[in-house]
Amino acid sequence: MSVIEQVRAHVKERLQQLDGVVALRQTVEGTAPFLFREGDNLDQLALEPQYPLAPVVSLLHKRDPAVRIGVVARGGDVRALVEMAKREQVDPERLHIIGVACTDDEAQDCRCSDPAPSIDAWPHAVLVGTPAQGAGPNPLVAEYDKMSLEERREFWERQFSKCIKCYGCRNICPVCFCESCALEDPLWVEKGVLGPPFPMFHLIKAMHMAGRCVACRQCELACPAHIPLTVLYDLMRRDVEALLGYVPGEDLGMGPPLSLTLEEAPLRAKVR
Ligand code: SF4
Ligand code: SF4
Ligand code: SF4
Repeated sequence: MSVIEQVRAHVKERLQQLDGVVALRQTVEGTAPFLFREGDNLDQLALEPQYPLAPVVSLLHKRDPAVRIGVVARGGDVRALVEMAKREQVDPERLHIIGVACTDDEAQDCRCSDPAPSIDAWPHAVLVGTPAQGAGPNPLVAEYDKMSLEERREFWERQFSKCIKCYGCRNICPVCFCESCALEDPLWVEKGVLGPPFPMFHLIKAMHMAGRCVACRQCELACPAHIPLTVLYDLMRRDVEALLGYVPGEDLGMGPPLSLTLEEAPLRAKVR
C-alpha cells in the first residue's frame, strides 16, 4: 500500500471514533485544510503541498472543549503541536496524530534535519512511511557565520529592506498564536507605513520565537520578498539550545524554558 493509501486507511478507521480528522483536501477549487468527517470522500485527502495544520487543530480544540479530532501531521506539524500543547493551545488527550514521514527529497527541499514525526510521547499516534535521514545544517548559516559584524548588519539591512510588511511570515507561523500581536501594536510598528521599522519588526518576531520556533520553514516559503528568514531563526534556535539546552518541538514532557523559574529549568550554559 502506498503512503497516501495507508494514511487514508488510518483516517477512515479513526473517523469511526472521532469527531473528525484535519488534513488537506484537494478539489477542483484547490487544496486547503479540511475537517474530514465520517462519510466524506477520502480520495480527496492530499499530502501536498506542505501546509501547517497545527493551528487548525488548535482552533477546533479551543472552540469546542469536548471535541476529539485527528490530524494528518508531518514532522514540522508534530513539533509545532508539541510547543502548542505546552502552552495549552491543543489538548494531547483529545488529539489522534496520523504522522507522515517525509521523504529524503522533501527533507532536502525544506532543509529539515528532523523529517520524521516524533510520536512516542503522544497518547494516540501512529506513524506512516519510512523515516528519512534529514538534511544537514543550513548552509546559509555557515555563510553568515563567516561574516564580520559590519557585514552581518549590512546583510540584514539589505534583506529586510525588501520586506513589504505583509505579515505573511507571522500569519503562516504555527507557533504565532497570540490573540493580540505585538507586531500590530502602534507603539512598535507604525500603521499605514509601507516597510517595517528596521530592525524592530523582525527583532520582535525573532525574540518571540526564542524557545518556540520549530524550524518548519513555512515563514521563509511564504515570504513574497524571498527573505531568508530561517537564517535568523536557525541562529535563534542554536542560541536557545546552547544556552538553555532546549530544542523546541523535541520533548513533549519538557516545559518551555522561558516560562519557568531558574530552579525549574537550570541553565545549561555552554559558553562559546
Ligand atoms: S520556521 Fe518560521 S514559520 Fe516555522 S516555527 Fe519557525 S518562525 Fe515559525
Ligand atoms: S509575532 Fe510575537 S506577539 Fe505576534 S503572534 Fe507571533 S509570537 Fe505572538
Ligand atoms: S513575509 Fe516577508 S515580506 Fe511579508 S512581513 Fe514577513 S518578511 Fe516581510
